[in-house]
Amino acid sequence: MPELPEVETTKRGIEKAIIGNEISGVWTSGKNLRYPISPKLAAVTGLSVVDVSRRAKYLLIALNDGSHLLYHLGMSGMMRLRDSGYKPEKHDHVIIRFSAAPELVFHDPRRFGCVVKVDDEINQHPLIKRLGPEPFDEVFTPAYLKRLSKNKTTPVKTFIMNNDVVVGVGNIYASEALFQAGIHPHRKAGNISLKRFGKLHEAVIGVLTDAINAGGTTLKDFHQSDGKPGYFQQKLMVYGRHEQKCFNCNSLIKKVITGQRSTFYCPHCQR
Ligand SMILES: [Zn+2]
Repeated sequence: MPELPEVETTKRGIEKAIIGNEISGVWTSGKNLRYPISPKLAAVTGLSVVDVSRRAKYLLIALNDGSHLLYHLGMSGMMRLRDSGYKPEKHDHVIIRFSAAPELVFHDPRRFGCVVKVDDEINQHPLIKRLGPEPFDEVFTPAYLKRLSKNKTTPVKTFIMNNDVVVGVGNIYASEALFQAGIHPHRKAGNISLKRFGKLHEAVIGVLTDAINAGGTTLKDFHQSDGKPGYFQQKLMVYGRHEQKCFNCNSLIKKVITGQRSTFYCPHCQR
């Protein structure tokens, strides 16, 4: 499933090609994604792209009339740039065509993604409005985590994955960051010291930064016609490694289910 780093990579992969370009047409498959594709989408024809940004796992394309295209990659979505005249393939659902830029193709086999045209203030949109801070935002600090976790009995893994607390810490990154910070995933959030939140804060930023940097090497794929997904494998310390030896201490990595998600941890390194 695309996580924050993949969405950031997608943003970096497409922005240079499309910013400043005028939309010459829109093609849609007619199939429903997470939400039905609105006929309003055709109204972007003639508008120009002024910016591409990311908020949590949403990709936002700002247009010169103040509206936005809001994309979510869902479970299996990907965006690709294709030469003009590209013929839609199976699982392509929305293609934005430009007068002088490659076509922007949204491809999504499982159709849990979405493409929505937002005419009103983007930060007030229901999908965006209630999101917590970005992990790279200056309000996201160890003291902030300490303050929000006060009296919370939720496991710290669930706490750090909560979008109200901070966005973009998916299951893989939560497991990896807790390992780096040496914190047991089931520890109650309210019982964690400021010092340990300092380690967790650093680890969250570290694992996401590493993933984004790893994604940078896949940027060229956005232009490749064989179009492999831009998702990437980092070296994972615990995620997916149950019954394998911890790289630090040789104990066997454990797997448990936390809040319906698989959690991986080292029983020796994480307390
Ligand atoms: Zn260990």
